[in-house]
Amino acid sequence: EEKEVPYDPSQLRKISKHPCFSEKACNRFGRIHLPVAPKCNIQCNYCLRKYDCVNESRPGVTSKVLSPEEALERVDEAMDKFHYIKVIGVAGPGEPLFNEETFKTYELVSEKYPEKIYCISTNGLLLSEKLEELKKLGVSTITVTVNAIDPEIAKDVYSHIYYQGKKYTGKKAAEILLEKQLEGIEKAIELGMILKVNTVYIPGVNEDHIPEVAKKIGDIGVYLHNIIPLIPQYKFSEKEPPTPEEKEEMKEKCSDYVRQMEHCRQCRSDACGKLGEDKQDSLES
Ligand code: SF4
Ligand code: SF4
Repeated sequence: EEKEVPYDPSQLRKISKHPCFSEKACNRFGRIHLPVAPKCNIQCNYCLRKYDCVNESRPGVTSKVLSPEEALERVDEAMDKFHYIKVIGVAGPGEPLFNEETFKTYELVSEKYPEKIYCISTNGLLLSEKLEELKKLGVSTITVTVNAIDPEIAKDVYSHIYYQGKKYTGKKAAEILLEKQLEGIEKAIELGMILKVNTVYIPGVNEDHIPEVAKKIGDIGVYLHNIIPLIPQYKFSEKEPPTPEEKEEMKEKCSDYVRQMEHCRQCRSDACGKLGEDKQDSLES
């Protein structure tokens, strides 16, 4: 059963070409990720900062960071070879909104390729304050990683955050992050952007709480929910990831509240091509 979402038809027509938001599109159209954002402003307990940000990434991959100018060159080359690429995104390797290079990259690339769909993935801390700028640059689809909506649970997922020049830890850090994530998501939907939420399924930490996350994001109009199994590393390196059956069960539960993503391939932050058949190795770096 599909949920009513407050999106207008022109937005929905647009995402019908977005391989991550539309299962049909994922066989026909592709996306390119530009790894221009190395720094991060939070510390997730499952992140070693050695690999790509888990917001939108495959485990154990390290993308080489590009400058905005190099990113534009990569896009030029990709457009030349792979005409089916419709979506251009920044997804890491750190937090896109915490790196000025992200904005510079969108500026350079969207000026040259205005007809493409621009996408971003974020931990959400800076989303509400960067939204107007993103909108101006033509970004229309956003993925936010929301692992909990209750600070009591979120405090076990994050070690600290840096916000407005200060470091916060524990419950305070969780409270600020969650408040900012939801504020950003609601504001983005008001601005007509299409939202996807990623949730890392962390057994023993947020598993009983994920349906509440789904309910909340469904209520506020998030278009799509992507539940990602934990990749055990850093402080969670001793944890068992959920089994495929557990993950399916969880998606089933959550599908009462918000449409579930069925075709995620956990792309890397320098992914290029159709989902599941990456071509980045055929591009020069
Ligand atoms: Fe797809 Fe995520 Fe990349 Fe956007 S950022 S193109 S949703 S994989
Ligand atoms: Fe790592 Fe991404 Fe979390 Fe930052 S937001 S700590 S890069 S997983």
